[in-house]
Amino acid sequence: MSQPIPEKAVTVCVLRETAPGEQRVALVPESVPVLARAQAHVLVESGAGAAAWFPDSAYKRAGAEVVSRDEAIRRAGIVVGIGTPGQETTTRLRAGQAVIGMLRPLVQPDLARQLAVAGVTAISLDGLPRTVSRAQSMDALTSQANVAGYKAVLLAADRFGRFFPMLITAAGTSRPANVLVLGAGVAGLQAMGTARRLGAVVTGYDIRPETRDQVESVGARFLMLESVASGAGEGGYARALTAAEQAAQQAELAARIARFDVVITTAQVPGRRPPVLVTAEAVKGMQPGAVLVDLAASRLGGNIEGSVADQTVLTENGALIIGAGNLPAQMPTAASAAYSHNVVALLAELVRDGTLTIDPADEIQAGVVVTHQGKVLHPAVAALPAATAPGGIR
Ligand code: NAD
Repeated sequence: MSQPIPEKAVTVCVLRETAPGEQRVALVPESVPVLARAQAHVLVESGAGAAAWFPDSAYKRAGAEVVSRDEAIRRAGIVVGIGTPGQETTTRLRAGQAVIGMLRPLVQPDLARQLAVAGVTAISLDGLPRTVSRAQSMDALTSQANVAGYKAVLLAADRFGRFFPMLITAAGTSRPANVLVLGAGVAGLQAMGTARRLGAVVTGYDIRPETRDQVESVGARFLMLESVASGAGEGGYARALTAAEQAAQQAELAARIARFDVVITTAQVPGRRPPVLVTAEAVKGMQPGAVLVDLAASRLGGNIEGSVADQTVLTENGALIIGAGNLPAQMPTAASAAYSHNVVALLAELVRDGTLTIDPADEIQAGVVVTHQGKVLHPAVAALPAATAPGGIR
C-alpha cells in the first residue's frame, strides 16, 4: 500500500528505461522507505523494475505509488534514470523539474543545452568528484564498473572451452587458465579478483605503477612492461600516452599476450578514446580458443583492435573477441540495487526539508549539477561547442 504523502515532500519518479538492452531500474523497492524518511515520495512507472526482477507489487509494498508513464512525468519533481532520458521524455519535462542520471554531458552537450533551455535542472552522476570521501556512497561509476568487471569474467569463462581452475580428476588433470587483465581501475581489479576466485592464474597490468599493490592484493601478479614509463595522470587517472609510447606498449604487450588463454581489457583515459592496447597482430599470436573481452568497446573504439561493442568476433586464428557493451545491464538486479543506493545517497545530500536544494558552491554539487534555472552551470560542458562530442566517453 502506498503511504500517505508527507505534507512537505519532493516527488521522485522512476521511469522504465527505454535504451535498447537496458534492463536496470534507477530505484529499487528497498530504497522507497529510505527516501520517505528523507521526505521524498516515490512514483514508479508501472513495469519500471520488471526487467530487473522488481515487480510493481514490491514497490507498492515498499510504499511507492505505481502509475502510468504520463502521470509519473506530469507529477514528478525529480525524474531519476540510469542513462539519458529519451527525447520522448526530455521534450515533456518542464521548468522547475529535475532529472538525475548518468547523463554524460561531456559527450552529449546538446542534451544539457536542451534541458537548460527548458528550465530543467540536470544532475549527472558521472560528474561526481570521486575522491571526496562524502561522495563515495554516491559513486555510480564505481558501482557499475564493479558489476561490469565481474560480469566480464563470467562472459569469458562461459565462452572459454576449458576450466578456469586446475582440476585433478580420474579423467585427467586440467591446468588452470592463464588470465591477463589490462587496466587496474575499479572494473579491472574486480575482474582480477573474480578470475582468481574461479581458480585461474591471473596477471594484471596498468600504466599507473602505483596499482601494483592493489593488483597483488587481489591475488594477481603484476605485469611490468620495460618500454613504457609511468602513465599516471591527474586525480588517480591515467594520462594519454604519446604515439611513440603507445607503439612501444603495444609491441611489448603483443610479445607477452601470446601465452595467455583469456585477456580482459578495461583501460580508459578520461575525456579520450580508449587506448588500443591489443593490436590485431597480438591477437594473431594467440592460440585457437583464446577469449578476449573488451570492456572499453564502444562506438568510439576499444582496447582491442577489431572489437565491436555488443558483438562477438571470431578471428581467423580462432580467437574470440567479445565487445562488451553495457555489461551492468546484463546483471540488472545487482547493478540496479547498487545504483539505487548511489541515487539515494545523492538525494539525501540534495533534498532539504522536502525540497531539492541546489548549491553550486558545494564541491559535490559543482561536479554533478549540469544545468539549473535556465543555465548550463558546469564549466566544462558550457565550454563545449554545440553539436559535437569530444573523443571521450565520459
Ligand atoms: P578508468 O575507468 O578511467 O580506467 C581504468 C584503468 O585503465 C585505470 O586504472 C587506468 O590507469 C588504466 N589505463 C588507462 N590507460 C592505460 C594504458 N594505456 N595502459 C594500461 N592501463 C591503462 O579507471 P577507474 O576505474 O574509473 O579508476 C580511476 C582511478 O580512480 C583509480 O585510481 C581508482 O582507484 C580511482 N577511484 C577512486 C575512488 C575513490 O577515491 N573513492 C573511487 C573510484 C575510483
